[in-house]
Amino acid sequence: MQQLIAGVHKFRKEEFGNYRKLFRQLSQDGQNPHTLFITCSDSRVLAELITHSQPGDLFVVKNVGNIVPPAGARGDTNSTAAAIEFAVETLRVGDIVICGHSQCGAISALLGQSPVGDSLPHLRDWLKLAAPVLETLKKDYPHLQNHEARWTAAAEENVLFGLDNLHGYQCVQERLMDGTLRLHGWFFKIATAELFAYDPETRQFTPLVPEK
Ligand SMILES: [Zn+2]
Repeated sequence: MQQLIAGVHKFRKEEFGNYRKLFRQLSQDGQNPHTLFITCSDSRVLAELITHSQPGDLFVVKNVGNIVPPAGARGDTNSTAAAIEFAVETLRVGDIVICGHSQCGAISALLGQSPVGDSLPHLRDWLKLAAPVLETLKKDYPHLQNHEARWTAAAEENVLFGLDNLHGYQCVQERLMDGTLRLHGWFFKIATAELFAYDPETRQFTPLVPEK
């Protein structure tokens, strides 16, 4: 907590001056983010940092494993769905990014590397939503023996699973039909802070910004 409070002091003293006008403007005008950014709660994945975004730019949803539940999911799983509806229907974002990442603990748990016990019932049920990713892994990646490669493939397939599920939301369907909404699958590699984007044509994740 000490570190957090010291950080607040440092922000007020050294950085707030640069943002004073922007925050005041945003409080008067309300928010108008251009993108709904769905990523993992993992402390190493900072949506604003890696996209160089400013306050007001991104409507961020962080959840364990950046899972997008199927539109029909109810109960404990509906907060991500609520955020999707609000961002798409009310804020009218033009883009939705689902951003998975390397070394994801949720994906590791999904793969059975670090099983989730009975003391974490919410987490266990939440991860069950992504069970179809395991089926895809069995079906399409039987050749992958290496744990690291399976881990990455599952995280990438989880992004595609989320994109598929987005199509099940009525508000998303309508905006896609209008041509006013675009969906993107991204993958963040922690060690190098590189971003990869899914290309539906080649069905590969390729560097978002080619290295020079
Ligand atoms: Zn994660």
